[in-house]
Amino acid sequence: MKAIRRFTVRTVVPAQISALTKLATNLRWSWHVPTRALFESLNPELWEKSRRDPLALLAALSREQFQELAADPGVVARVDAAQESLETYLSEPRWYQGLGAGAPECIAYFSPEFGITEVLPQYSGGLGILAGDHLKSASDLGVPLIGVGLLYQAGYFKQSLSKDAWQQESYPLLDPDALPLTLLREDDGTPAQVTLPLPGGRVLRAHIWRADVGRVPMLLLDSNVAGNDDAARGVTDRLYGGGGEHRLTQELLLGMGGVKALRVHARLTGTAAPEVFHTNEGHAGFLGIERIRELMDASVTPEPLSWGEALAAGRASTVFTTHTPVPAGIDRFPRGMVEHIFDGGLAPGVPVGPILELGAENYDGGDPGVFNMAVMGLRLAQRANGVAKLHGVVSRGMFSGLWPGFDVADVPITSVTNGVHVPTWVDPDLAALARERFGAEVLDGPDWSKVYEVSDADVWAMRRRLRSALVDDARLRLRASWKKRGAADAQLAWTDSVLDPDVLTIGFARRVPTYKRLTLMLRDPARLKALLLHPEHPIQIIIAGKSHPADDAGKKMIQDLVQFTDDPEVRHRIIFLPNYDIAMARTLFPGCDVWLNNPLRPLEACGTSGMKAAINGSLNLSVMDGWWDEMYDGENGWAIPTANTGAGDDERDDIEAAALYELLETQVAPRFYGEVVAAAAGAAGPSQPHSGGLPAHWISMIKHTLADLGPKVSANRMVAEYVERLYRPAAESGRAARAANHASVRELAAWIDRVRPAWPAVHVEHVESHGLSDEPQIGESVLVRAHVNLGPLAPEDVSVSVVYGTAGDSDELLDTRVLELGSAEETGPGRYQFSADLLIDRSGNFGYGIKVLPRHAALANPAELALITTG
Ligand SMILES: *Cc1c(COP(=O)(O)O)cnc(C)c1O
Repeated sequence: MKAIRRFTVRTVVPAQISALTKLATNLRWSWHVPTRALFESLNPELWEKSRRDPLALLAALSREQFQELAADPGVVARVDAAQESLETYLSEPRWYQGLGAGAPECIAYFSPEFGITEVLPQYSGGLGILAGDHLKSASDLGVPLIGVGLLYQAGYFKQSLSKDAWQQESYPLLDPDALPLTLLREDDGTPAQVTLPLPGGRVLRAHIWRADVGRVPMLLLDSNVAGNDDAARGVTDRLYGGGGEHRLTQELLLGMGGVKALRVHARLTGTAAPEVFHTNEGHAGFLGIERIRELMDASVTPEPLSWGEALAAGRASTVFTTHTPVPAGIDRFPRGMVEHIFDGGLAPGVPVGPILELGAENYDGGDPGVFNMAVMGLRLAQRANGVAKLHGVVSRGMFSGLWPGFDVADVPITSVTNGVHVPTWVDPDLAALARERFGAEVLDGPDWSKVYEVSDADVWAMRRRLRSALVDDARLRLRASWKKRGAADAQLAWTDSVLDPDVLTIGFARRVPTYKRLTLMLRDPARLKALLLHPEHPIQIIIAGKSHPADDAGKKMIQDLVQFTDDPEVRHRIIFLPNYDIAMARTLFPGCDVWLNNPLRPLEACGTSGMKAAINGSLNLSVMDGWWDEMYDGENGWAIPTANTGAGDDERDDIEAAALYELLETQVAPRFYGEVVAAAAGAAGPSQPHSGGLPAHWISMIKHTLADLGPKVSANRMVAEYVERLYRPAAESGRAARAANHASVRELAAWIDRVRPAWPAVHVEHVESHGLSDEPQIGESVLVRAHVNLGPLAPEDVSVSVVYGTAGDSDELLDTRVLELGSAEETGPGRYQFSADLLIDRSGNFGYGIKVLPRHAALANPAELALITTG
């Protein structure tokens, strides 16, 4: 029989241990090992049955069991201690509180997905995990951040395999009442609500759920509420579900609804309004439109701003992070679809034409019929960044069409390299070793440099424990997967002995878009087989990853791979584990000796799984892409060479796969086994470094990785960089914009209105140089004079600079520097002469050119208006 009605009965926890409810709802437990240990100790068996979910555990405990626990003074004392630890964590001053005045009071962080714990499956991959790690590190650092996202009824799909290895998706529905969430309510108890007007008089309503990520609140909008029509209810049905209008409506709810939710939250809690708005990828970009709407609405802003003024004001305090150089990763909607929905009154008072222009691909190669979310993101944010140094370079090139005439290097997109939340991703065993050997504070900061004091034997024993734990977990998962594929228990005895806790273990797990090349390792199956079955130094490989449900090419790759792993000859050495998620990841990263990454360079914006492996002492074997391009140093792993030079796709894959096999065979495996084998055979000569039969070189690479990469890949480093380089400047710009009733943006917008139409008249008429000898030498200086016609503009409106450097073969300037020319003298109507002494500071071919840019104190970057004149 089916239930006609269902509801969730919340557990009543006895008063003596009632703090358990808060401990279970504040997601700090997901990275705080002692709190997890407390829950486990309440009832280890139920803990496993509840999939290590504290709320599920509380729901599963019976009244009698609760009474027993409450009567146990030991339990009560431990609950009290955990509660005190949480309260201290929530209230004590942390890093941010030492920054002094001027740091933003509140920062809103928008993301379509948040990967915080497997208990809240609201993520699909790297973008979401990164967002989760961002919130957690913000909490640890005391940064007053607030997350904004959507609550998907089914989250992302669960993956299993059919008998013939085809990916199967299922979408189990989540019950928000059983999740660590609280519904935001008005004072009268009714659920707080945001609404968006849709075309045809429809209304999209959403409730707001709040999760607590340590100190950081996270607001999730849920459209599955009474009063919505079916389509509106379905807006938050699943993550990256439908395409087209469904996706557009999701993003409108996330961006515009998200701003409204923040206003409701601030009103109900009496907390500060965000001073900075950060959008994690373009999906939440419509937040800028809602902020413009507020500024143009007399009922919100008593002396409302014009479109241009509101745009300038919104931009000042907005940060946009682009995450992908893969075009398919960027949302593009039909322009007409966006027009239709805004024409329907979504942003009353805001002109629709300019909104459409924000997303227009009006540059070489752009599609006039398209509304591009990344392009809008860049136009709505005064500050933008990519997520690794190389990705910064790639993004500047990719979006350079928006800045015609500028050198690619001057495109105003910087980079902040991603990081990972160390307490979440360090294995508890490794954390315990660190605590015992060099103090508990290690979990508060990623200082692993003391690992050099730990003996090689202890490090190696730890690595074996982690590898063994992975092997155990993998066997269980493999067996479960085979049962789903239709095998009977009697056929599965072999799964109990797959993998070997003493064999070099290589991991590969990530989403399965084509560019990540899941199947590169299959390029030469015979060669792979030989590596797996090598008599002296075999390898074993554990693979996982979900393909996007609509991506048949990805599913085919999974199928090819799984069919290879099904071969009885190799199935004990290579396995595919379905349903990659945070829970699997936490055993997988620490258990692998080597983390493999072979994307098509430069399509991996950053990649974070290798970082999570590194903080557990796994070594990376990766194409020089993303973070590895800037952090590989020769002793922390291996670089797979890239065959970029005009080779066709097939040829390139062949070359790179061959390089991968070669590295595994001649470098990685021998180093892992070499010294052990030699020592065991008594053949270790004095020239061979070893310490008691241990692979000394390998272990030194582990220590180096922990000590050196640890701090660099930490999300604390990342969040601190965002604070210093982006949030704080954005808050300052935002304050300047708001001051004196928005006086400065009113002035700025008027100035832009004057400068933009006048710009075509600006040109460099001629350039002279004086004082250069016949054979110029380093140290000589030359007087450079530029005659510039400014049309109707004044010299204060512009900056005129000489750009100088080494002149290349076709006169392009390399390795350039910039010197601003000053002392403008009027030489005729609209004509000015600018000059400066230029010091010749290098030998060889010296060259220079002149560039003229608009200048205004409120611009964060001289390229901001995308106006330039050169000569
Ligand atoms: C870290 C992580 C990812 C992202 O890994 P990339 O290397 O960035 O592709 C995806 N899924 C899970 C479960 C992760 O933990």
